[in-house]
Amino acid sequence: MAIRRHRIGTDGTGVHTLVCFPRCPLSCRFCLNPETSWPEEGFPHLSPEELLETVRKDDLYFSATGGGITFGGGEPALRSRFITAFRHLSPWKIDLETALNVPAETVDSLKDAVDHFFIDVKDMDSGIYRAYTGKDNTLVLRNLERLADRAEDCTLRLPLIPGYNNEESRRRSEETLKRMGFMHFDLFEYKTAIRDGKRQTNL
Ligand code: SF4
Repeated sequence: MAIRRHRIGTDGTGVHTLVCFPRCPLSCRFCLNPETSWPEEGFPHLSPEELLETVRKDDLYFSATGGGITFGGGEPALRSRFITAFRHLSPWKIDLETALNVPAETVDSLKDAVDHFFIDVKDMDSGIYRAYTGKDNTLVLRNLERLADRAEDCTLRLPLIPGYNNEESRRRSEETLKRMGFMHFDLFEYKTAIRDGKRQTNL
């Protein structure tokens, strides 16, 4: 896993430590975290207890700002056992950044472990989703239904993705999600640039 300290305003309220797991089932065209598809051997392996000791050095920041730990990736929901075990040890808030394209039982187990979900919905349209990620979004739609009773604790990310969706499809996604009970949205646009004749994410 990769650990990034002292993050403010990007992964939830207060000061956060971002803990990223490698591996993701999706192949987003403009993946912002390409290093998470690297082999796991490139990352240190920590137990939940070892992670607790590693992040504890920022306890004062977490306590003073209402921050905590954000699990990201890759797809951290695939590490639900680790996160659940860490939840039993951690006195701090736990947030999760997930694309939610994972088995339903994974989401059920994480509901008790996670305080806030940042869900990278991308687009609710199945065709757009498949074109952009290379995967079907049936699991995402089912898992959103499973999380609807935690809607207050969810922020749904709906990007404008150049070449894949547009304002109209994003508006339809937002309306569908509002009908499901969700009320917190993060609307933004991927900044891309053409390099060597190919469009790339412009970080
Ligand atoms: S879900 Fe995130 S980590 Fe996975 S491929 Fe897409 S942008 Fe990359």
